[in-house]
Amino acid sequence: MDMPTPDLATLARRAEIVAALRTLVTADSVIDDPVALRVFESDALTAYHQVPLATVLPASTEEVAAVLRWCTTNGVKVVPRGAGTSLSGGALPLADAVLIGMSKLSRVLEIDYDNRCAVVQPGVTNLAITRAVEARGFYYAPDPSSQIACTIGGNVAENSGGVHCLKYGLTTNNILGLEMVLPDGEIVRLGGKGMGDSGYDLRGVVIGSEGLLGIVTQVTVRMLPAPQVARALLIGFGDIEDAARCVAAVIAAGIIPAGMELMDRAAVNASEDFVHAGYPRDVAGLLIVELDGVPAECDFLCGEVENIARGNGATSVATSTNETERLRFWAGRKAAFAAAGRLAPDYFCIDGTIPRRELPHVLREMTRLSGEYGLPVVNVFHAGDGNLHPLILYDSNEPGMLETAEALGGDILRLCVAVGGVLTGEHGVGVEKRDLMCDMFGDDDLDQQRALKAAFDPAGLLNPGKVFPLLHRCAEMGRMHIHGGKLPFPDLPRF
Ligand SMILES: Cc1cc2nc3c(=O)[nH]c(=O)nc-3n(C[C@H](O)[C@H](O)[C@H](O)COP(=O)(O)OP(=O)(O)OC[C@H]3O[C@@H](n4cnc5c(N)ncnc54)[C@H](O)[C@@H]3O)c2cc1C
Repeated sequence: MDMPTPDLATLARRAEIVAALRTLVTADSVIDDPVALRVFESDALTAYHQVPLATVLPASTEEVAAVLRWCTTNGVKVVPRGAGTSLSGGALPLADAVLIGMSKLSRVLEIDYDNRCAVVQPGVTNLAITRAVEARGFYYAPDPSSQIACTIGGNVAENSGGVHCLKYGLTTNNILGLEMVLPDGEIVRLGGKGMGDSGYDLRGVVIGSEGLLGIVTQVTVRMLPAPQVARALLIGFGDIEDAARCVAAVIAAGIIPAGMELMDRAAVNASEDFVHAGYPRDVAGLLIVELDGVPAECDFLCGEVENIARGNGATSVATSTNETERLRFWAGRKAAFAAAGRLAPDYFCIDGTIPRRELPHVLREMTRLSGEYGLPVVNVFHAGDGNLHPLILYDSNEPGMLETAEALGGDILRLCVAVGGVLTGEHGVGVEKRDLMCDMFGDDDLDQQRALKAAFDPAGLLNPGKVFPLLHRCAEMGRMHIHGGKLPFPDLPRF
C-alpha cells in the first residue's frame, strides 16, 4: 500500500511550520519531538506506520480554525485524529502533514432533556455520552465495540455502527447537528437540535466523510430513553448456513431485534477459552439475538424468534432470565476480537456489508477463499445488518504474509460487492480499501465524489491519500479490459 510521495519542500519547512503553529495555540499543544510523535504514528490498522510532520492539540473551535486557516494559506496538509481507533487507516499520519488531535476538546457542553439531545465536543468518547445521561434514564444508541475509547468526532467521520444499530440506526441516524471548521478556517453549522433543515442535507454529507471535508468541532447527538427491559437469546446451530438463514427469516417476519450477532465455531471457542461465558462449544454457528421494549412485547418476541430459529434448524435455544445472564450472553461476543487476537500473532479485520439473504452463500465462499489462500478466517459479525467482520489470522513476521492477508481481504470485499453489497459497513475506506473503490464505483461516480470533496476542500489538503485511489482513473488502477495481452497505460505503477 503506497501513500502520496511526501513533498520535500514542506519537509524542509518543518521548523518554520512548527514555530508558526506555536503562535496559534499554546506552545505545549504543538508536539514536534520525534519520540513523542511516535505515539501518533498509527491507528488501529497497525500494519501501517508514519510519523507526522508535527501534532497540534487545539483546545477550542477557534484554535482549530486558526490552525486550519494557517495550513491552507501555507499549502500544508492536515490529518484529523480522534482516539486513533480507526481500523481502516483513516487517521494514519502523513510525513508532510500536520496531525490535528481532538483530545483536548473533550467536554459535554449541554444536556437538553426537553429536546432529548446533548451537545458535546468531538473528543468526548462514545461511552461518556451515555454515562453523562444514564442517571436520567437516557442513552446514546450507536455502540461501537471500541466505545470506551473512540470519540464521537471519529464516529461522525466514520459513520460508526455497533450491535444496537440494527434497531436504532447508525451514527448518521443519531446525529442532529454539527459544527465544523472548513479548510479555510470558516466555522459552519450543519443541522441543529430540531428535525428540519432548509437546503441540502450537508449534515448527512459530512457524516461518513472520513475527515476529508472539514474538522468537526461540536456534535449534537440524539438521546433515547433506555428500554424498560432487554432479553437476549443464545441460539446454537449445527450448520452455520442455517444460522444465516435464520437471520434473514427473523427480519422477514417483521421483527427488528435490538441486536443480532453471529459467531462461527472458531469465534465461539476462542471467546469461551478467553472469558468463559458458558457458550455451547458443539455449535457451528451461535446467534445472539437481543429483544428490548416493554416486558410483554419482549416476552412475545422472544417466543417468536425461538420458533423461527427452531424452524431453521436451531439445536439449542437459551433465553436470559435476568440482567446478569443477559450480560453473560454478551460477554463472549464483546470479547471476541480480543479472543481472536490470542489465536495468531496478527489479524486483519475486514468490514463489508451484504444483503442478508446472501449470508449463506458468502459464508460458504469465504471458507473456500480461506482454504485457497491458506489463512484461517474467524467470523464474528453484525448479522442482522449483513455487516461482515471476517478476521484473517496471519503472522506479520513471515515474509509476504501481510500481502497474502490483504489479497484475501480484497477478494472477500470484491465478493461482497459482487453479491450487491458494499465495501464498508462501519469502518470506512481509509487507506485499507482505497484501492478497491474502483471495484465498487465507476470513473463517473468517483469524479462526482471528488467534485464534492473539492467543494469543501478545493486545495485537497485535508486527509490526502485516503478514500480515493491515488491513480486518477479506474482504468489506471487495473480494472480494465485487456485485449490481446496488451496492458493499457503500461508505464503507470500499479499498487
Ligand atoms: C477493538 C476495536 C473495535 C471496534 N469496533 C467497532 C465497531 O463495533 N463499530 C465501528 O463502527 N467501529 C469499530 N471500530 C473502529 C473505530 O473505533 C471507529 O471507526 C471509530 O469511530 C473511530 O473513532 P476515533 O475517535 O478513534 O477516530 P480516529 O481513528 O482517530 O479517526 C477516524 C477517522 O475520523 C477522522 N476524524 C477523527 N476526528 C475527526 C473530527 N473531529 N473531524 C473530522 N474528522 C475526524 C480521522 O481523520 C479518520 O479519518 C473498532 C476499533 C477497534 C480498535
